[in-house]
Amino acid sequence: MTHLLHRSIHTPPRHAVAAKGLHFTDSAGRDYIDASGGAAVSCLGHAHPDVIAALHAQLDRLAYAHTGFFTTDVAEELADTLIADAPEGLSHVYLVSGGSEAVEAALKMARQYFTETGQPQRRHIIARRQSYHGNTLGALAAGGNEWRRAQFKPLLMQAHHIAPCFAYREQWAGESDAEYAARAAAELEAKILELGADTVAAFVAEPVVGATAGAVPAVGDYFKRIRAICDKYGVLLILDEVMCGMGRTGSLYACEQDGISPDLLTIAKGLGGGYQPIGATLLSQKIYDAFAQGSGFFQHGHTYMGHPMAAAAGLAVQKVIRDDKLLDNVQAMGAELRHQLHAAFGQHAHVGDIRGRGLFQAIELVEDRQTKAPFDPSRKLHARIKAEAMARGLMVYPMGGTIDGVRGDHVLLAPPFIVTAADVAEITGRLAEAV
Ligand code: PMP
Repeated sequence: MTHLLHRSIHTPPRHAVAAKGLHFTDSAGRDYIDASGGAAVSCLGHAHPDVIAALHAQLDRLAYAHTGFFTTDVAEELADTLIADAPEGLSHVYLVSGGSEAVEAALKMARQYFTETGQPQRRHIIARRQSYHGNTLGALAAGGNEWRRAQFKPLLMQAHHIAPCFAYREQWAGESDAEYAARAAAELEAKILELGADTVAAFVAEPVVGATAGAVPAVGDYFKRIRAICDKYGVLLILDEVMCGMGRTGSLYACEQDGISPDLLTIAKGLGGGYQPIGATLLSQKIYDAFAQGSGFFQHGHTYMGHPMAAAAGLAVQKVIRDDKLLDNVQAMGAELRHQLHAAFGQHAHVGDIRGRGLFQAIELVEDRQTKAPFDPSRKLHARIKAEAMARGLMVYPMGGTIDGVRGDHVLLAPPFIVTAADVAEITGRLAEAV
């Protein structure tokens, strides 16, 4: 009997008692390799000594200060650290407690930007089908994952959805990446014109789609085209890097690889590496100036924003990533993981695709390798693979088979950045047995 409400009521999770490096131990003494960083969170692995030391020191010095009264050294230093490496044009950081809060703040910043600049009619948010941007009611409304939305309709906010850029599923035979990217991006322009160009506030998308589709990067110059369409109609571009950001794909920000900068950018998971709940919304100078010259106030806040313990965790994690040059390892081990996945699954009768960037890789399982027909969702293949992997001491992040239909089940791998070639071989071997 448990008094804790577990999400999966009839199959509560195993009981973890400790974790170090890449390994978890459960209450029965079993060992698990963390090949997913939880949900792409634990970028440094568990019990990193530098982060523990930073947290102890912060706890001794100052655990909590409400931002209505005080700012703190750690929060200021974390913002400086993030902006020093941020995509061009981003100038300020708003610190919150997680990914959904970061997305909520971005949506509200977009709306407030337009009220401050005399365009209060710009209210529409456009996102993509099958997307996930968080579970709070605003972020859920922005997202286009029907399976997650269905139980909660009518949602608080009306958002509009266009097709995602999933080349593997949507590209026509003979269509080049560039042609496909142009076709996928053109839907945004059509949607803006349909709604009325001066009524749209923002378009939101994940540069590399994580949980809902399994490490899917855009192809061709899709995001350059998206940026140009947003600029043409004065629509703000929000990039959600809650899952794919903070080095996961091999560059600090995933959008660097697409050659663009957003107006607003959300980060969370890898920002604090799981040591504390933390998220952030990065905003451009243009938005900051509109607030500064307008009301002088961002009309939004949370009790725990800029929490010193969370900021200390974020700062310590980001220091280790930079000092230990861990992005080099993300690139090298990302290539190794891809290589091993191709060796293990490249010819597999039920693997239709192997994709991703850096240490953010996925395999997609299909009924038929030739036609790419997905498995019947009712078979819940992703859940069975998760169970088989856990039985072999392997944590992976499978998803799929939702009522959105079009795609198959996928298994996402997002191991900590400290992973070695031997770990990668162990992970791939256990996954092959589980599949
Ligand atoms: N956006 C994206 C892209 C995510 O992957 C997630 C979490 N899976 C969120 C937002 C929400 O983050 P959180 O669970 O920290 O609220």
